[in-house]
Amino acid sequence: MTATIPPPSARDALHERLRSPLLHFIGGGWVPSESGETFEFLTPTDNSVLGHAASGTAADIDRAAQAAHAAFPAWRALSGKKRRAVLHRVADLIEARADEIATAESVDTGQPIRFMKSAAARAAENFRFYADRAEGAQDGLSLPTQGFLNYTLRQPIGPVGVITPWNTPFMLSSWKIAPALAAGCTVVHKPAEWSPVTATLLAEIMHEAGIPVGVVNLVHGYGESAGRALTEHPLIRAIAFIGESRTGSLIQKQGADTLKRVHLELGGKNPVVVFADADLDRALDAAIFMIYSLNGQRCTSSSRLLVQRSVHDDFVDRLAARVAQIRVGDPLDPATEVGPLIHPVQADKVCSYFDHAREGGATVRVGGERIGESGNYVRPTLFTQATSDMRISQEEIFGPVLTVIPFDDDADALRIANDVPYGLAAYVWTSDLTRAHTFAHGLDSGMVWINSENVRHLPTPFGGMKASGIGRDGGDYSFDFYMETKNIAVNLDGHRAQRLGMDMETGS
Ligand code: NAD
Repeated sequence: MTATIPPPSARDALHERLRSPLLHFIGGGWVPSESGETFEFLTPTDNSVLGHAASGTAADIDRAAQAAHAAFPAWRALSGKKRRAVLHRVADLIEARADEIATAESVDTGQPIRFMKSAAARAAENFRFYADRAEGAQDGLSLPTQGFLNYTLRQPIGPVGVITPWNTPFMLSSWKIAPALAAGCTVVHKPAEWSPVTATLLAEIMHEAGIPVGVVNLVHGYGESAGRALTEHPLIRAIAFIGESRTGSLIQKQGADTLKRVHLELGGKNPVVVFADADLDRALDAAIFMIYSLNGQRCTSSSRLLVQRSVHDDFVDRLAARVAQIRVGDPLDPATEVGPLIHPVQADKVCSYFDHAREGGATVRVGGERIGESGNYVRPTLFTQATSDMRISQEEIFGPVLTVIPFDDDADALRIANDVPYGLAAYVWTSDLTRAHTFAHGLDSGMVWINSENVRHLPTPFGGMKASGIGRDGGDYSFDFYMETKNIAVNLDGHRAQRLGMDMETGS
């Protein structure tokens, strides 16, 4: 492990702030839970208590939903130009406080600071991107036909619930909240209970930027109480959710009685497929980056590496040498590449796969153990000689753990790549153009990168197939979720409808 670094002032400031419990932000004010209850959240480096947050229940969600409902008419009526200006101010403030946000995220989640700095920058970019689209969000199509002008327009759906997970929570919250606000919706946000800190900073920033009272509300709390109440609330028109596939399924059920529109961004078991004809040096860097960055806790992580048998042994030897050198340490140390996992429960889950690998007959080539006396440090781990039917090849481990599976030819690779319940992202490495496209068309994945790691272009659709989700984010796709499309048909030729109820003889 890299050495623990002396605590910087931003960390001290955070600890000072967390001496008081984090509160809900409802109707423009910071409030405790009606029940007075709080919950504690932990420091991933040693599992000491980092702070307490108000524990929301149905009563708090109801207050927040009422506030979002009351604020909706004025926010939707505000011009796109004014919404644009305020969302740019949010981006400005995120940029101004990026170091503080990155530090808080690292301390709260265990994510290395080197990645959290770019995550904060990306959150600002999300707000800018959707700020610039606020004016055009309502735009529709002209669909003329004989005697009629049909035109469509989009209108905000109403107050929406946003439920987010604990991996890169600040960036992911911005990814949902920015398009919702640009569309003219009001929001109730329920962040993950393991990582409530930066949601608080985001609410603070949005308020300071001038987002009107009630337009954005924040309720902390557990999924089964606050989260569930949000999905069931009749004033909430839609739920934008990021999290595990089984929670997504619960959210659909919970939202059924109130006919909620749901957008689900769920788990993944994403393949990176390396053909023998690929640029193997670049493929190696990308495969390592996409699973060991962000502690392996990203939905698009390349957690399965499929390597063509003719280059397999050499590629895996080089891979193993690099994985063994990955620097594990304090998340605030800029040299750290992998930090502690967020919570002991998640560390136990990840470590349980070390046994599954051995029992299933795979080789634990690197890692496969915890590190350190305290905290949730896990050695970056590489499983080799795996087959597709093993648990380590089928289940989302959500940690710095990579499973390598050899393949023979294109058909074999495609069969293995698609042989999982998930279908979020895939990465294909080959120098054969025809193979690249043909293979990409055959993949059961919402997103495919060819000869690249995950490099996002915000107008493109983001989302998954199968158990990886329902719906797409990005560009205009987000507005399709947060808005209703309305068709307006205007008659131009003065034609008359069939006349019913007329006197048959007189015709009047
Ligand atoms: P999780 O499903 O356990 O929790 C996510 C959120 O849902 C939390 O805020 C939680 O409190 C809430 N929740 C839990 N039960 C609920 C219920 N019954 N009703 C309403 N809300 C409820 O997920 P997690 O462990 O926090 O996050 C990790 C998962 O998120 C991984 O599976 C990962 O792949 C996925 N993820 C997906 C994407 C994507 O874009 N597809 C992005 C990031 C993370």
